[in-house]
Amino acid sequence: MADSIFTKIINREIPSEIVFEDERVIAIRDINPQAPVHLLVVPKAPDYQNVAELAAADASLLAHVVATAQSLAEEHAGGQYRLIFNTGAEAGQTIFHVHAHVLAGGLEEGTLAGN
Ligand code: AMP
Repeated sequence: MADSIFTKIINREIPSEIVFEDERVIAIRDINPQAPVHLLVVPKAPDYQNVAELAAADASLLAHVVATAQSLAEEHAGGQYRLIFNTGAEAGQTIFHVHAHVLAGGLEEGTLAGN
């Protein structure tokens, strides 16, 4: 299968604003932000299309994605944020390489959809 946009970013084949990286994840600023802070936390492993697959196959990597989201939200937004994993095209997923949206700042009370 062709590399996802995120794999191309991880491999530095296309540019992105990288805000954090370690051996297991990369975090970038979303190119089309839906909130004042809109980051994406992406496992480097290309194997998982969505969060359910990731959870079933590698719970510790999912926990690391969540911990990274938490620490980025503390750094960029005072630690309060919305964490979204779109799952399936009809739910708005466009890139089938699992990623967490971290949204913060200026979110409307009472709305579910952040993206
Ligand atoms: P989803 O729709 O849940 O699959 O999320 C994909 C997200 O990736 C969208 O919010 C896009 O704005 C974002 N995106 C697409 N291409 C890039 C890129 N080159 N750099 C940063 N974010 C991107």
